[in-house]
Amino acid sequence: MTQGAHRDDVVVIGAGFAGLYALHTLRGLGYRVTVVDAAADVGGVWYWNRYPGARCDVESLQYSYSFDEQLEQEWQWTERYAGQPEILRYIQHVAERFDLRRSIRFNTRVVSAEFDEVRHLWRLRTQEGLDLEASYCVMATGALSLPRLPDIPGIESFQGPVHHTGAWPAQGVDLSGLRVGVIGTGSSGIQVIPQLAQHAAHLTVFQRTANFSIPAWNRPLAPQDQAAFKSAYREHRARAREIGTLYEFSDKGAFDVTPMEREREFERRWDKGGVNFVHAFNDLSTNKAANDTIADFVRARIRRIVKDPAVAQSLCPYDHPLGTKRICVDTGYYETFIRPNVRLVDVKKTPIDRFDSSGVWVAGQHVKIDALVCATGYDALTGAVLAIDIRGRAGSRLRDKWAQGPRTLLGIMTAGFPNLFIITGAGSPSVLVNMIVGIEHHVQWITDCIEYMKASGQSTIEPSVQAEDRWVEHVNAAANRTLLPLANSWFLGANIPGKPRVFMPYAAKIGVYRRECQAVADKGYEGFVLVPKTQPLQA
Ligand code: NAP
Repeated sequence: MTQGAHRDDVVVIGAGFAGLYALHTLRGLGYRVTVVDAAADVGGVWYWNRYPGARCDVESLQYSYSFDEQLEQEWQWTERYAGQPEILRYIQHVAERFDLRRSIRFNTRVVSAEFDEVRHLWRLRTQEGLDLEASYCVMATGALSLPRLPDIPGIESFQGPVHHTGAWPAQGVDLSGLRVGVIGTGSSGIQVIPQLAQHAAHLTVFQRTANFSIPAWNRPLAPQDQAAFKSAYREHRARAREIGTLYEFSDKGAFDVTPMEREREFERRWDKGGVNFVHAFNDLSTNKAANDTIADFVRARIRRIVKDPAVAQSLCPYDHPLGTKRICVDTGYYETFIRPNVRLVDVKKTPIDRFDSSGVWVAGQHVKIDALVCATGYDALTGAVLAIDIRGRAGSRLRDKWAQGPRTLLGIMTAGFPNLFIITGAGSPSVLVNMIVGIEHHVQWITDCIEYMKASGQSTIEPSVQAEDRWVEHVNAAANRTLLPLANSWFLGANIPGKPRVFMPYAAKIGVYRRECQAVADKGYEGFVLVPKTQPLQA
């Protein structure tokens, strides 16, 4: 053992929904587990995303753990869509209820992880100088957890406060009475903008790409509705394991009905609110002409809300099919642009030239701002994994291996990096489904795998290169059957200059994917190379 290194069976990086459930499950089976997290407490993305308006767009009764029926019944959600403070309280409650904090090291950032081929274990180093060793390393690092600030010339010279939505100060930020600039109109921007507009003296929204947003129609949860849903929780959870989130899927194509019927269906779903809207017909994600009908409907809604034709035109997305960038869900987003204290700057028409100490230069004009909010997104799916210097067999670096895009088998493991598991990573449905459904599935699969390793006396497991290649092709083919690759989205890494353009999540129904994962396990981890305890690892 390295001098002073802390030794465990499993080390888990990240104390969000994934890390906590992995800890609870593995510790419950008797494994020695340590979780490390850079934050001061549990929560993961829900710890960091404290910006005003932060709210989940999966309904709260579904965006919760299913592994404990008592927890499920006792926790009372107050709103249809839970806000960040309530979700964080829920996660903290889970940590207390299952006594999880005693196995977590907070304020601890892992900087490197190296596989020791002689001792068959992972050696981790933290920024604080702590050494950890474990037979297995589980990356519960989150799909959207490495915030990205815009690289606009001069931004470092701006003298006012700059806050990224994904690293919002825990003590909050008072922007009332200030001239605020906000960059970014994805899900985070669309949530924070209406809130900022209410408090700022003036708000300038810098929009690069207009997005489609659907009203949430959030509301308090009626006790009888909550009780009714909970009385059928087992059935709901079983269905969610098949389809992700309990949307109302249609068995009709957009052109199987008359234009009037189509319009009525869009209206009905718009009035109900939320992501359910995009499932109005079964071909909207695969047939561009069908997609045009729903996109036209949303653009007409935007024009109905925003009377200024030039502003409405800028807010209307035309450069990607609806749903090919993650659909946004809002509360009063388009209405915000009617306010007299809000100005939209379409940076595709009038690009940001540069920042200076007191504001932004746009097309030769100076826009004075006192504070800047960046809702500029994340280095998604691979960013937080590759932020750690991970070295596998023969010292090979994961950053090098993934230089042309992530390569995994089932999205869970990558060849050459034995005993390293990734939760909801690239190559799994991940961000395309309810994250908690994906997380619970992965934790269970990984736990079963570790149990199998123990029972059968195995020391290491990793994918074969051939099986991994087949999986990568399979994931690409699934994306290519949809319209998803048509947008310059973070699904493809398009938001990060120089990031390889590879569609990262697996665009299959979670039920299909679960069966694929189960079949691999049932066949003794087909496609994986297992090395028994007595045998040295082959190079
Ligand atoms: P995002 O979807 O990547 O949006 C980032 C925004 O910043 C985009 O509008 C982007 O424009 C803009 N941007 C980035 N760099 C820029 C630059 N240099 N100049 C001008 N504009 C720039 O990030 P996000 O809004 O944080 O959302 C990420 C994901 O997190 C969501 O898609 C969702 O999965 C999740 N999320 C969910 C919720 C929810 O549950 N309601 C809330 C927040 C986040 P381009 O489009 O042109 O790149």
